[in-house]
Amino acid sequence: MRVVIVGGGMAGTRLAAELSTRDTAGRLSVTVVGAEQAPGYNRVLLGDLLAGQLSTSDLRLPGSTTAAVRTGDSVVGLDLAHRSVRLRSGATLGYDALVLATGSAPVLPPLPAPHVYPLRTVADYTRLLDALPGASRVVVVGGGPLGVETASTLAGRGIEVALVHRHGRLLPADLDAEGGGALRRFLRSRGVTTWLASAAVGLRTARRGRLDGVELDGGRCVPADLVVVACGAQPRVALARGAGLRLAAGGVAVDDALRTSDPHVYAVGDCAAHPGARRGHATPAWSQAGVLADRLSGRDPAARYRGTPHVLRLRAGLEVVAAGDQEASQTDRVVQVADGTRHAYHRLVVRAGRVAGLVAIGEHDAVPTFVDWYERGTPVPAAPFGMPSDRRS
Ligand SMILES: Cc1cc2nc3c(=O)[nH]c(=O)nc-3n(C[C@H](O)[C@H](O)[C@H](O)COP(=O)(O)OP(=O)(O)OC[C@H]3O[C@@H](n4cnc5c(N)ncnc54)[C@H](O)[C@@H]3O)c2cc1C
Repeated sequence: MRVVIVGGGMAGTRLAAELSTRDTAGRLSVTVVGAEQAPGYNRVLLGDLLAGQLSTSDLRLPGSTTAAVRTGDSVVGLDLAHRSVRLRSGATLGYDALVLATGSAPVLPPLPAPHVYPLRTVADYTRLLDALPGASRVVVVGGGPLGVETASTLAGRGIEVALVHRHGRLLPADLDAEGGGALRRFLRSRGVTTWLASAAVGLRTARRGRLDGVELDGGRCVPADLVVVACGAQPRVALARGAGLRLAAGGVAVDDALRTSDPHVYAVGDCAAHPGARRGHATPAWSQAGVLADRLSGRDPAARYRGTPHVLRLRAGLEVVAAGDQEASQTDRVVQVADGTRHAYHRLVVRAGRVAGLVAIGEHDAVPTFVDWYERGTPVPAAPFGMPSDRRS
């Protein structure tokens, strides 16, 4: 059976590797087409490259021992009727099963390109690392997980960092207001200035086109030699759209078999829209790759992907963990402890006796247990922090 995987990122590389270990009979002929020059690497570790803790070779993912891997080439068109894909290099590949693992592309604010550094690929990080020696003031645009991690890492390198964020609090998709506030105070202690409820609308340049600052919508200009953008990512669905595959919630719609609206085409990772997965995270991408490898290799042709509980873990120099729903209703129990002197804030939203939401800023011995309760749906005891004084509301 001919399997063509479009995208040699985290999902595509994992799928190819898992297919090669499962296909002991050599039944499969697998080809991975990856647009990036770098072979499959762990994108999650790119921040460690920026921190100087890892080198690019440390990022390499275990690959397939049997697949043909074409790096630096792209699939530019799908022909579903003839079951073939067209490559930018001019080649055509036929398939019996096609897997879209095209990931997502960074959302860029409307700022002139040369001064702006997106953060998606190893090439992006290499470009940023090359530019950093000439920069003493950096503006990071975007206060989601990537923006916060990056701001904290750059501040740790002794750079003056300002973080500009459109929303009124950091990590709005993951944290409640107090959690966002605790994280902001931590960043301030690292020397990061945060501009919340502010949008970057333009750049101010000095002589010879050198960047001087980032203009905010309120009229202020924040001094900067370099602008890093971490404004989220959008699933890459152009191929699927062009071929008429069904889209949902901005991604390629898949069922529990990870099959798209065409029975010979599958999608995994950031580009796939499955109701049980939060896109933009490696854990669902890898779980989906495992399920699809079971199906395509014949090891378990009935394998199903049921979803992945989402737990955010930030690496910002402070432990930050968040999961579930932070909006507590009147019937929910909220238990929290806070210690401003340690930037510590821990909160559980307990709904029908189970953890519905979790925020953990700063270390606490109980955090792994809370995550376990959340993932397994374990009943929460009366005093989850082990203190009779657990604050409730
Ligand atoms: C800096 C950074 C840090 C992150 N940190 C975390 C973290 O801590 N935890 C976490 O869970 N997630 C994290 N993520 C998200 C995680 O990396 C993604 O969820 C994961 O990479 C998704 O895997 P994917 O294979 O779907 O997409 P990708 O890894 O983006 O791979 C898609 C690949 O497909 C290629 N491609 C696209 N179109 C074509 C085409 N037409 N032809 C050929 N190739 C094509 C792209 O070039 C790319 O290489 C981070 C992401 C970034 C950028």
